[in-house]
Amino acid sequence: MAATIWYEKDADLSVLEGKKVAILGYGSQGHAHALNLRDSGVDVVVGLRPTSKSVQFAKEQGLEVKSVPEAVAEADIVMILLPDQYQAAVYKKDVEPNLKPGAALAFAHGFNIHYGYIKPTEDHPVFMVAPKGPGHIVRREYAAGRGVPVVVAVEQDPRGDGWAITLAYAKALGALRAGAIKTTFKEETETDLFGEQDVLMGGINHLCDLGFDVLTEAGYQPEIAYFEVFHELKMLVDLANEGGLNKARWSCSDTAQYGDYTSTVITDETKKRMQYQLKRIQDGSFAKEFMDDQAAGAPKFKKLQEEFSHPHLETVGPKLRAMFSWNNGPAKDADEAESFNGKIARTQVQ
Ligand code: NAD
Ligand code: MG
Repeated sequence: MAATIWYEKDADLSVLEGKKVAILGYGSQGHAHALNLRDSGVDVVVGLRPTSKSVQFAKEQGLEVKSVPEAVAEADIVMILLPDQYQAAVYKKDVEPNLKPGAALAFAHGFNIHYGYIKPTEDHPVFMVAPKGPGHIVRREYAAGRGVPVVVAVEQDPRGDGWAITLAYAKALGALRAGAIKTTFKEETETDLFGEQDVLMGGINHLCDLGFDVLTEAGYQPEIAYFEVFHELKMLVDLANEGGLNKARWSCSDTAQYGDYTSTVITDETKKRMQYQLKRIQDGSFAKEFMDDQAAGAPKFKKLQEEFSHPHLETVGPKLRAMFSWNNGPAKDADEAESFNGKIARTQVQ
């Protein structure tokens, strides 16, 4: 069955006229949603904890900022862009008691709805607009007149206007310039978790660092190893994005292609491990493990962050990247230093 994909012509921005959209959180996704919607003419209020460092930052960008309860109380649509592990507590305390009758609830990831950590009453439309890219790219692409594709879903539709609101929101975000693919909360959540833990992060990150170990333990120079197992990854990903795996493959030498086809690194066992991981996602045990740890103050998560905070690759990474003339420009995103260096600290202070 072919996927349903919507574009600019399929959505009507006037659906959002006279409606107030509260964006809760001003992190990676929050700043992009707030600014893009505002620039598309939508009435936006950002909901933050009064103590948050982002309050000043959002105000400087010309946005109206209120506390979470105040922002929710005046909103017709509440987009929750807080870290997944804190959403349920904020929902119970600050969102649910202040929600206007019939106000829509929106998410950029299905986690809390799908696994039942948030259970809105049935009079509230519940929808998802999930960008398939980090917030900084969602903002940069919008500003450049383009968009990042999204997946969209409607979980509850008490009035029958759920899809019209969802697509109007996606249009205001700039996403329909690229396209919105129809999905469900279940499909988005399970496939998103699978992608990040088995391929994009849990797969590639470990593969690169392991390849670096094998080469350096065999006596090769770390600088050379870095280039061979890590640096060139970007070029291949760029080519694959343009023209798929076939373009990435035919851009490489016949020698490289032959090595690719005959490699024994990824085995049937890898597929079995992927299926095992997928099962843990589908039956909720991954979500439960993560959320239980978070509820206990995240001891396991913090230990893992510390344990993985010194990838072997990075023994030479900073030095090599500083040498690259094409990398020496100013930071691309205003909050880069804070979010990059403060990732661990931010988690710890929550
Ligand atoms: P983030 O960590 O970058 O930002 C979270 C924001 O929430 C910050 O402004 C933080 O100060 C604020 N916050 C945290 N706790 C709070 C509280 N108790 N009360 C009020 N504000 C609080 O998060 P993110 O990466 O933008 O993720 C937000 C949502 O978007 C998640 O559901 C995530 O799954 C989804 N998503 C993220 C990406 C991505 O690339 N980052 C992509 C698609 C979807
Ligand atoms: Mg994801």
